[in-house]
Amino acid sequence: MAEIEKVEGSNEQNSSNFIHNIIDKDIENQTYGGRVYTRFPPEPNGYLHIGHAKSICLNFTTAQKYNGKCNLRFDDTNPVKEDTEYVESIEADVRWLGFEWDKLLFASDYFDKMYECAVNLIKKGKAFVCDLSADEIRQHRGTLTEPGKESPYRNRSVEENLTLFENMRNGRYGDGEKVLRAKIDMSSPNINMRDPVIYRIAHAEHHNTGDKWCIYPMYDYAHPIEDAIEGITHSICTLEFEDHRPLYDWVLRELEWEAPPQQIEFARLNLTNTVMSKRYLKALVDNGDVDGWDDPRMPTIAGLRRRGYTPEAIRDFCERIGVSKANSLVDIALLEHCIREDLKSKVETRMVVKDPLKVVITNYPEGITEEVEIENSKEDESRGTRKVTFSRELYVERDDFMEVPEKKYFRLFPGNEVRFKGAYFITCQEVVKDAEGNVVELQCTYDPETRSGSGFEGRKVKGTIHWVDANAAVKIKVRDYNYLMIDDEKGETIINPESMKEYEAFAEPSMAAVKPGERLQFFRHGYYIADEKLSADAEKVFNQIVDLKSSWKK
Ligand code: ATP
Ligand code: MG
Repeated sequence: MAEIEKVEGSNEQNSSNFIHNIIDKDIENQTYGGRVYTRFPPEPNGYLHIGHAKSICLNFTTAQKYNGKCNLRFDDTNPVKEDTEYVESIEADVRWLGFEWDKLLFASDYFDKMYECAVNLIKKGKAFVCDLSADEIRQHRGTLTEPGKESPYRNRSVEENLTLFENMRNGRYGDGEKVLRAKIDMSSPNINMRDPVIYRIAHAEHHNTGDKWCIYPMYDYAHPIEDAIEGITHSICTLEFEDHRPLYDWVLRELEWEAPPQQIEFARLNLTNTVMSKRYLKALVDNGDVDGWDDPRMPTIAGLRRRGYTPEAIRDFCERIGVSKANSLVDIALLEHCIREDLKSKVETRMVVKDPLKVVITNYPEGITEEVEIENSKEDESRGTRKVTFSRELYVERDDFMEVPEKKYFRLFPGNEVRFKGAYFITCQEVVKDAEGNVVELQCTYDPETRSGSGFEGRKVKGTIHWVDANAAVKIKVRDYNYLMIDDEKGETIINPESMKEYEAFAEPSMAAVKPGERLQFFRHGYYIADEKLSADAEKVFNQIVDLKSSWKK
């Protein structure tokens, strides 16, 4: 997976892919009477992540393209790990992404039907109750090169199997004591077809069915039945299920379903610097490595939302990466590119100083405040201007000063003149230091003739920097992020110990009015959002959505 895929930008609506080609054929052949019905089937055992977004977009937009329907179905056949908190978060995330399902369904609502189907298989001699332990079943299974061994319980009579299965259902046995297995072929080259387990015993409380059941169907058996019950036509899943497709087809064939749905596999999304497994993400949450499922560093939909990503950017990303049959690794820079593209004309710009250094304009009168006018958006003139106060004492970024300038450094250094955005040309005159030699203040002068908008053309300066008025500034917290997962020297993926940096920053006065959830560009810094959870207090917290410069190349 070392090779990072170069993805072509494509933003076309209704773009096609190999799945759509299959559907086109099905429509032509009237396989499903021209119907297209898809579903997104998450297991409610965690929050959705960006990989799920790919599947959501694919399933819902495919249905839209063909005037079909798409269900949200909770694949809740495993009682132990599932929870209603996850159910609720998944519904919210799908809606936030901009999709509305035809029906909201739970696989567990089909437990009766699935049981009935299992009884049918037993009656047909296609399923049997097996007393082998999980370990023994594994030992009997064989390998890729050797056939498996038949279970000694394989030839039980239909009557005995029916009785034993009913006993299983009635709680007569402990967990693991018995299973129901499909009777297929222990010498099949496909290990999934070697008498797979289709029901197991689990005395566990289920989030939906409570303690009604103590036997639960296995995924490979349950999923085709769920699809068939709902009238799904195209059951889209990820590539690791390709080898399970013969079993999917076997279940529906043996149950004699008419016009059975077809399973189509596509490559799952893998992203650089991103771990995408609910199990792993849950461990991060449980260990306290992050501040919950919606921590802005998490690749969850909830995390991306809190980070300031828009549904439009995520959908655009899913469109651009496309759908294929080959596994690959997508550069996270593409996702960052998509949010920049979306925000650049949508949000206004403000000045924020993250790491303040005091500037005193020695020739500017004391006790005077003037207002300068600055454009709200470079991309969109119609957003007009705002007034920003300017006075004798200001803050600039510590980074915008160098006592001994490097080559090509055009910002503040002794003797140099720069433009203060929207205000005046300012010259750095003196550097004030504390007892330890740290720079604590710059004494500067301004040239009144150079006021922005005055038409001054006397001379040019190479640098423009931002600033805030020290007397009017609003205190905010700014959180800049780095990737949560990085590779160490040995090439192993570890949790980045420096994935967040918080600044006590100064913002221009207009930012007192920013509401939680509002997005802005901080001039020269990047895009930010007022944190929804933490910005109700007087001192607002801003999450960095993305920085300004793109490392993504077409
Ligand atoms: P995880 O291992 O993260 O729990 P999962 O596949 O077990 O993922 P499900 O809840 O079963 O999670 O997934 C619901 C749907 O989302 C499935 O159809 C699955 O194939 C799809 N999906 C999950 N991860 C990705 C991914 N990285 N890229 C594309 N689709 C994905
Ligand atoms: Mg899963």
